[in-house]
Amino acid sequence: MTSASDGPICVVGAGITGAAAAFHLVEAGAREVVVVDAAEPLAGTTPAGAGFVARFGADHNRRLGGCTVALQDYGLAFYRRLHDEGADVEFAHNGNVVLALTETELDRLSGGILEHPQVGEGTRRLDADAVAEVMLGAVDPTAVAGGVLMPEAIQLTTSLAQRELLDRLHAAGVDVRWNTPVTQVKVVDSSVVGIETVDGTIDAPNVVIAAGAWNAALLASVDRRLPLVPMVATRFVSEPAGLSPQTPTVQCPELHLWLRELHGGFSWGGSFAYRLVSALRAEGLEFGYERPVSQTLIDAQLAEQETIAEVFPALSGLSTVEMIQGVPVYTVDGGLYIGDVPEVDGLWVLAGDSESGITHGPGMGKLISQLIVGDEPFTDPAPFRLDRVDPTAYPDEAAMVAAMAGDRIADAVNRA
Ligand SMILES: Cc1cc2nc3c(=O)[nH]c(=O)nc-3n(C[C@H](O)[C@H](O)[C@H](O)COP(=O)(O)OP(=O)(O)OC[C@H]3O[C@@H](n4cnc5c(N)ncnc54)[C@H](O)[C@@H]3O)c2cc1C
Repeated sequence: MTSASDGPICVVGAGITGAAAAFHLVEAGAREVVVVDAAEPLAGTTPAGAGFVARFGADHNRRLGGCTVALQDYGLAFYRRLHDEGADVEFAHNGNVVLALTETELDRLSGGILEHPQVGEGTRRLDADAVAEVMLGAVDPTAVAGGVLMPEAIQLTTSLAQRELLDRLHAAGVDVRWNTPVTQVKVVDSSVVGIETVDGTIDAPNVVIAAGAWNAALLASVDRRLPLVPMVATRFVSEPAGLSPQTPTVQCPELHLWLRELHGGFSWGGSFAYRLVSALRAEGLEFGYERPVSQTLIDAQLAEQETIAEVFPALSGLSTVEMIQGVPVYTVDGGLYIGDVPEVDGLWVLAGDSESGITHGPGMGKLISQLIVGDEPFTDPAPFRLDRVDPTAYPDEAAMVAAMAGDRIADAVNRA
């Protein structure tokens, strides 16, 4: 807990999680917030995000856990608020369909979602014809068994949402420093005293590490380790294909796919084009504070297009107008890290986005700001504590990957 007179609060990282943390700190009354980012604006993973936001934690088939639903509800409300306040984040409230190709899978999906105690209002099972209707013609009903509609789901353009938060920080007078890598968090007698950057020291008794794929390096500077598994993930945007702007977002576990409408075309990807950062680095991939570009993954996704088009016929033969990659970071238990670093006063962390930082960023930012200023947390922070996982149980990445066996991206983590 801190008070406004304690000195600046430094947020390291200006992606969606860091920007949301700074935004909520300002809203909570923190007087001096400094945001420091290693790169240019919008250089990190956030703009690669596809912009799906839904109550993904209310699903027994996913590893996020019911504890995350309050954060998802907060994210849904937060983006609606930006939209209602006039921000152009290409917000649309079209719902989400989890698609099944077989009856067995439809039963599994329905069981996981409809039998969850926190199931959202109006969530319902769809047969193949109902899928075709809800999907406004984008799906061939003969290729699917059905799906589950999650009507609360929204979609947005991630770079616009990040830009909106940065504009609001600027308007609030927050000092945001770009192209300023933080090299170390400075700790004296178990208390944070500031950060070391390539441009010198910033004194601050509170530091929030929100550096996405680069969190592990900053934690190492204070001799701490979290089991974190960074992967490169890929998103393609097709040329316009006449899709309705009212089309719901879609996930199809059997195709390892997520897909949505964007500017009349398809914005899509899936774990067929994800790979461990370590595996890609072993093949020669190099990147610093910018987004990676992996041709291996681009080729893997191109190879999948006609298979996906058997379910989404309009995708067949379309050219790709944008290919963008980013580095989501997975946790061994499928959850998120939001909280303090035990035994280091003044050090706070937002990490392990589990490829859901767009959905959870606003809630993560809100919760960490409440913990820092000492306000009543809007949801129980205990399930997000950093010390819920013992890092010594995961001495290397192979041990972490082994723990992810039940994850929806398990096929990709196990690919060499
Ligand atoms: C293809 C793809 C699709 C996705 N789809 C979705 C989706 O539909 N819904 C969803 O919820 N999530 C989705 N995600 C996940 C989501 O994009 C991420 O969880 C989120 O963007 C992570 O945000 P972040 O702020 O943690 O990281 P980033 O956006 O990477 O921000 C971290 C920042 O920290 C800075 N930084 C790093 N090191 C330092 C340092 N030493 N000093 C100072 N600054 C530093 C970086 O420059 C960067 O700007 C997707 C991700 C990908 C790649």
